[in-house]
Amino acid sequence: MAGRANHRVLLAAAVVCAAAMCGLAPAAVRAAEGDPLRPSVAVNFPIASDVRLAGDVKQTRFILDLDRNIQFRAFALADPYRVVVDLPQVTFQLAAGAGTTGRGLIKAFRYGLVMPGGSRIVFDLAGPAKIEKSYVLDAANGQPPRLVLEFEAVDRTTFVQSLAVEGRPDLRPAIGAADTVATAAVEATGTAKPAEPPDKRPVVVIDPGHGGIDNGTQASGESEKNLVLGFALALRDRVEKAGKYRVVMTRTDDTFIPLADRVRIARNQSAALLVSIHADALPRGEGDARGATIYTLSDKASDAEAERLAELENRADAIAGVNLTEEPTDVADILIDLAQRETRTFSNRFARLLKNEMKTTARMHKHPLKSAGFKVLKAPDVPSVLIELGYVSNKSDLEHLVSDNWRSRTVGSVAQAIDAFFAKRMVSAGSAN
Ligand code: ZN
Repeated sequence: MAGRANHRVLLAAAVVCAAAMCGLAPAAVRAAEGDPLRPSVAVNFPIASDVRLAGDVKQTRFILDLDRNIQFRAFALADPYRVVVDLPQVTFQLAAGAGTTGRGLIKAFRYGLVMPGGSRIVFDLAGPAKIEKSYVLDAANGQPPRLVLEFEAVDRTTFVQSLAVEGRPDLRPAIGAADTVATAAVEATGTAKPAEPPDKRPVVVIDPGHGGIDNGTQASGESEKNLVLGFALALRDRVEKAGKYRVVMTRTDDTFIPLADRVRIARNQSAALLVSIHADALPRGEGDARGATIYTLSDKASDAEAERLAELENRADAIAGVNLTEEPTDVADILIDLAQRETRTFSNRFARLLKNEMKTTARMHKHPLKSAGFKVLKAPDVPSVLIELGYVSNKSDLEHLVSDNWRSRTVGSVAQAIDAFFAKRMVSAGSAN
């Protein structure tokens, strides 16, 4: 038993603080201060090389092989039942598809970066469960150091009670840090330099969907998060080159940004437009839809497919282990509703302009304009549109999505639509006086 840090955990508390809690906090602070580690400096992160699951629906064990001991903390989240394990930044070198199928109490798990300096593993549970034990084993007998988590089934009442005593403040630093990182990302784009004369150009927020631990949809080895980041960066370059707008990106690298933070970035920047970039996929056996679709916000989805998609896209936070029950509720619903009416008019106008421009370069879905309750489109004062560039599940759409030529032409058409939108806005603003 020597050298084995075995932390027994109180059954009542679903939170597990193995080793110290300090694993994440210093990294988060560094990130907020503009972490010099963040650029492409080669950093020697711990490596996770293999993963195994064992056990059954009563008790399930998760084992992660590492190249050194690490600190971690774990906590549970309800609705859906999840367990989140926060780690220092780890380089995951696991087999492709690791985590997509589970065993026993673990339905599936995901892993990846949630902020510079911080990685996370999120387990989807088959039902309420607690972490009975969690520890890091030292290397021994030719085995590498291992992170071990032992899950045990409990009833819902026990699970919910354990959340109540868990102590919410423990969770806040992780989310708070994500906030600061998002703000830092905005500043890092070089758009918020206080000393320079005020930049009066309209702000366009470009929002590449997903990122970090949240891959988005995947097909043929392509991840939505990478496809849409490539498109968004190309769009940024195109729009910036014209010099008429100030572009703010919600992310410029493979980092997870919570949906509410994407909206917050747009609002804090008093953005005149938010364009969220995604790519859809249909599950196998559910038809072969193709083409680009443009979505705006509505309380009621325009059709079943729009509803399915909004649910899927809104799941991003749950996927990354954000505590959904902690989301702030809308304060002044009536005021928001009034502001939203005008905003929606502008959003719909931009969506129509986009459709007209995009159809000249990209294949459009047979119903290219749709609406549903996308969280990322909910800024009450920022016209917001979400573009699904195509279906990664469709062979020829995917060929387009990975083609430089297609991307360049489609980026051009979106940039045209942005121009047309502002040209019209300026005219109507002028005539209103
Ligand atoms: Zn998406």
